[in-house]
Amino acid sequence: MIQIEHIYKSFGSNEVLKGIDATFEPGKVSLIIGGSGSGKSTLLKCMVGLHEPDQGRVLFNGQDFSKLSFEDRIPVRKEIGMLFQNSALFDSMTVEQNIIFSLDMFTDMSKSEKLDRANFCLERVNLKGRNQLYPSELSGGMKKRVGIARAIAMSPKYLFCDEPNSGLDPETSILIDELILELTQEYNATTIVVTHDMNSVMGIGEYILYLYKGQKFWEGSNQDMMRSDVKELNDFVFASPL
Ligand code: ATP
Ligand code: MG
Repeated sequence: MIQIEHIYKSFGSNEVLKGIDATFEPGKVSLIIGGSGSGKSTLLKCMVGLHEPDQGRVLFNGQDFSKLSFEDRIPVRKEIGMLFQNSALFDSMTVEQNIIFSLDMFTDMSKSEKLDRANFCLERVNLKGRNQLYPSELSGGMKKRVGIARAIAMSPKYLFCDEPNSGLDPETSILIDELILELTQEYNATTIVVTHDMNSVMGIGEYILYLYKGQKFWEGSNQDMMRSDVKELNDFVFASPL
């Protein structure tokens, strides 16, 4: 479980996050939605420790990440898998090297164990045998899948995906959503996905946090969204350029 409490983050005079509270449960896919510039990626980065929030706390299973020293953060970091907004693969590394990177950093696995794990992850995302390709040789959807394979290399307890569907055709997009849901259930992971894709919202959004200008505008499930008493919200979501 991840809890965030009163998260504030500014860049200079730009107040990007203005006191966000939310709880993300394990074994579920939680979605963060909202317009461009509403602070979704910034919030994700605050949660994984890539940004320090100016105020507020991020709790991983009750443990306050901000209170931990650099060394004490390492065990938590090991349990975090992240798919970045642009996949952010290392261009000079092969697919296999990209996946093994965190295993090199954080484990003392033998070379053959690491290769086995890379093969397992590649099979899991349907890219068996593509080990030696470079990112420049991959389609957008394949890059996302390699990004996911890299994110699950360490069997994460916490999985963060920033726009896993962007730039994908609807069919590939659904496959990626299904994969994220399956992996979440497999690892009982607390999964948080930033998306603009309303199909994802309706398909896998058990909990949805809607940000508007750095504040929580609404939270609930996709079922809640469909209910008539929040119809106005529903209309607003569908009408708004997310
Ligand atoms: P999008 O849907 O376009 O990805 P987003 O909701 O993810 O948008 P963020 O990337 O979180 O939005 O950006 C929110 C605001 O914070 C923007 O005004 C952006 O310019 C600013 N911002 C984000 N990262 C930085 C940074 N490292 N330095 C300065 N400003 C930043
Ligand atoms: Mg973003």
